[in-house]
Amino acid sequence: MKWRPGAGRIRLLPRLSAANSGKVRERLMKIYYNKDANLRVLKKLSIAVIGYGSQGHAHANNLKDSGMNVTVGLRKGGASWKKAQRAGLPVAPVAEAAAAADLVMLLVPDELQADMYRDQLAGKMRKGATLAFAHGFNIHYHQIEPRPDLDVVMIAPKGPGHLVRSTYVGGGGVPCLLAVHQNPSRQAKKLALAYGAAIGGGRAGMIETTFCDETETDLFGEQAVLCGGLVELVKAGYDTLTEAGYAPEMAYFECLHELKLIVDLMYEGGVADMFYSISNTAEYGAISRGPQVIDAAARQRMKTMLEQIRSGEFAREFVLENKAGAPTLKRSRTRMSEHSLEQVGARLRGMMPWIAKRKIVDRGRN
Ligand code: NAD
Ligand code: MG
Ligand code: MG
Repeated sequence: MKWRPGAGRIRLLPRLSAANSGKVRERLMKIYYNKDANLRVLKKLSIAVIGYGSQGHAHANNLKDSGMNVTVGLRKGGASWKKAQRAGLPVAPVAEAAAAADLVMLLVPDELQADMYRDQLAGKMRKGATLAFAHGFNIHYHQIEPRPDLDVVMIAPKGPGHLVRSTYVGGGGVPCLLAVHQNPSRQAKKLALAYGAAIGGGRAGMIETTFCDETETDLFGEQAVLCGGLVELVKAGYDTLTEAGYAPEMAYFECLHELKLIVDLMYEGGVADMFYSISNTAEYGAISRGPQVIDAAARQRMKTMLEQIRSGEFAREFVLENKAGAPTLKRSRTRMSEHSLEQVGARLRGMMPWIAKRKIVDRGRN
């Protein structure tokens, strides 16, 4: 396949960082809170949030509730246009919103960002404006080379967008990573801090990092632990029980439903609170059998995955997947929806109306 210049090009070597150069870093993490952010610098500006998906709806609504001047940039007639309007937000076509903004937060899917920057932002954004990201992929892997007059920052919430919204509404916030990639104005960090605070991150903590470290840790976390590792662990446990002849309903409760109760305990008080709450039988089973599931070979495979992220191999694969129309993703979504875990789960959740009543994801609204 021939690379087009600009969008969609993968340089095999991502940007270098201390981590990439193999040096061990021993620096204290700096964590910022609301007291370190000055919301006034942001109140004077007009903000365009491009995209109204998981992150987009959360940023736009949190910014608005924090008193900021925000417009949502979307495709005219796209599915999100009405959702954003119904939330009481001003909506405009992408290029128009970008042209009128001092700060543009790009929250369309990563695989669309390079084309969107090239076609609708690069020629429209104001001189000296700020281009912001919630994930470093396109900068780190050279898919976007921003105009030199732009400040380029990242405010990356460490949680799903729907929780960025629901946690903020509940008075809390989701921790964020902040980074500055370009800083011609010398104001980039101040703006990033204010933006992070305005979406709720300053309540939980905002860690200053680099586009490189955010990208590599984020990809690794979602692949190995949070999304990839977890779903396979649940499926493998469910399959083991059902293939041995146990009831799918029991397997579902055991391997998926109960996970939330366990994770809530870890979220509140770490592994210690979880072990405190479960039986000694469960704790002994956990410490003696857990390392057999995640054994030395699994840890070695995690190291290999991290290497594929750092070398750019994963990024290249993902860019190619999307150029081919995302066949692997589409196939996997169909296969997963047909898995009995998902079908049994839908039926059982239907019997627990309080779950539906407090659902974080409501596809018609967010
Ligand atoms: P998403 O898939 O949930 O939403 C994308 C939105 O973009 C759509 O809802 C639509 O409104 C809009 N859109 C799509 N195509 C468009 C087009 N051609 N023109 C205009 N608008 C278009 O995306 P997301 O998961 O919120 O991801 C956005 C960014 O946030 C990514 O960089 C991602 O890595 C980052 N991020 C996401 C999460 C998360 O929780 N999903 C967490 C941290 C960081
Ligand atoms: Mg998404
Ligand atoms: Mg991610």
